[in-house]
Amino acid sequence: MTAPATPRVTRDGKTLSARMWAYLEASYRAAGADPARYLHVSQGSYRADDPVPASGTTHNGGGAADLRTWNLPDAVQADLCRRLVVELRRRGGCAWYRDDAHGGFAPHIHVILRDEPGLSSSAAWQCREYDAGRNGLTGGGRDYHPRPPQETFRVGLPVVHVVARAAVTRGRAAAQLGVSVARFLRFNPRFIAKAPRPGDAGRGPPGGRVVDIKD
Ligand SMILES: [Zn+2]
Repeated sequence: MTAPATPRVTRDGKTLSARMWAYLEASYRAAGADPARYLHVSQGSYRADDPVPASGTTHNGGGAADLRTWNLPDAVQADLCRRLVVELRRRGGCAWYRDDAHGGFAPHIHVILRDEPGLSSSAAWQCREYDAGRNGLTGGGRDYHPRPPQETFRVGLPVVHVVARAAVTRGRAAAQLGVSVARFLRFNPRFIAKAPRPGDAGRGPPGGRVVDIKD
């Protein structure tokens, strides 16, 4: 089942859904990595909407993120990467650590949050590969990470906060527009449309004959 859409948020120029951000933050916290310090998205979702769209298609829709790993402390980097993959998976993500040996990539964690709306077709394909116990690469190799039971990530307080903040911002913009319009009309009263008042219906032009219509 697909989760309801949440507003898009952009940080460091990377766009994800508010739910996806909350999901990543929750996974980092569970893995023991402070998201404020260590969560860096090197590629987000919705790349198809970028001014220069990505060449690949996996990140063109919702639910996709690449996570920076070189910024994790050296001494615990490998262990932390493993824990992050497990926590991302536990919350409904199809996550893999990618590096030169796994797909020929610069090291990062690639994740698809499986029930986000609007997955690209290749992201959806990777989720099916995950379910088949494979590594999500075109070669169709075996999965190489632990496979915890997956749960649906529930929108918690942080994302409610983000949604509420978006609504407040929008409300404030609307109020601001209202104030500007009111100010404009105060100085330009000729633009004010005269609302008809009760009894106006049958009234003729000033000085003309008043015709009362009663029915
Ligand atoms: Zn990726």
